[in-house]
Amino acid sequence: RAKRKGRNIWQWYRPEEGQRLKHSVTLRHEVQTALRENQFEVYYQPLVDSLTGRIRSVEALVRWQHPDRGMVSPGDFIPLAEQTGQIVPLGLWVLKQACQEVADLNTGREQSLRVAVNISSLQFIRDGFLDDVFKILDETGLPPRLLELEVTESVLIEGADHVIGVMEALKHKGIRVALDDFGTGFSSLSYLRDLPTHKVKLDRSFIQKIETDRRIAAIVQGVITMAHHMDMIVVAEGIETLEQQEDLARRHCDLLQGYLFARPMPMAELMALPDILPVESNA
Ligand code: C2E
Ligand code: MG
Ligand code: MG
Ligand code: MG
Repeated sequence: RAKRKGRNIWQWYRPEEGQRLKHSVTLRHEVQTALRENQFEVYYQPLVDSLTGRIRSVEALVRWQHPDRGMVSPGDFIPLAEQTGQIVPLGLWVLKQACQEVADLNTGREQSLRVAVNISSLQFIRDGFLDDVFKILDETGLPPRLLELEVTESVLIEGADHVIGVMEALKHKGIRVALDDFGTGFSSLSYLRDLPTHKVKLDRSFIQKIETDRRIAAIVQGVITMAHHMDMIVVAEGIETLEQQEDLARRHCDLLQGYLFARPMPMAELMALPDILPVESNA
């Protein structure tokens, strides 16, 4: 099989390439085992108010504590799980775990926290997805208004009409939808008009360049202004410096997320944070 690849044949023998390939082949088979053996964990990263720095909600981010490899990054296994379809059971597990943990966190507290969960396109457009979401809310007792689902523009490849239908049904139930990694696709502007989304999340790649690239800054400002005119909330991802925070606050970006405020953390650490705002405060 390698021979037919002609000149690329040497790729197979480059040690690091072979290593990478072996790595992903193994990981692919291990997701199922990992689910069964409880190797996944959900971490939570706060989203803060751009003016006060106080926590408004959290994003659930899956972590894989591999018995031999240590912590495996989602960037390494989510794409593989998408290829094999294992993202469906994995995504459901994350959704249920996040809803359960946040419902538990909110119990007995005056102020409730909202949680955003990433949903792969494949999972989002799958038949039965809505039923799964509603069932999980029932089982965990998390109020629908405290759940937000993050999807990327790539979901639109599956056909805008169907996607809009699913989003409308979620909205009807009181569940919010956020458009993640906004600006990295190519369909952004025209689709923003049609999608019943509550929030756009400006991708970290924009934030990184905002101070050095005037055109990027103009795009960011444009998206913020446009989204506000459509009654959407804007989040900037990947805030690492005070300069970035100040810049985005000045541009009236509503919420900020990034290492400057907090890294993703296990529920036990999140629970210990005192500074949680009531959800009614419009985030
Ligand atoms: P995302 O949804 O855009 O999540 C934001 C990513 O940026 C997270 O990476 C987060 O840890 C990272 N991040 C946050 N602040 C900063 C910062 O200031 N600097 C830098 N350099 N990075 C920052 P993470 O946790 O590695 O996740 C990567 C991607 O994997 C996520 O991007 C999301 O697309 C996907 N993912 C994670 N968990 C899930 C999940 O449960 N389901 C699905 N379908 N995808 C997930
Ligand atoms: Mg996300
Ligand atoms: Mg994102
Ligand atoms: Mg991103």
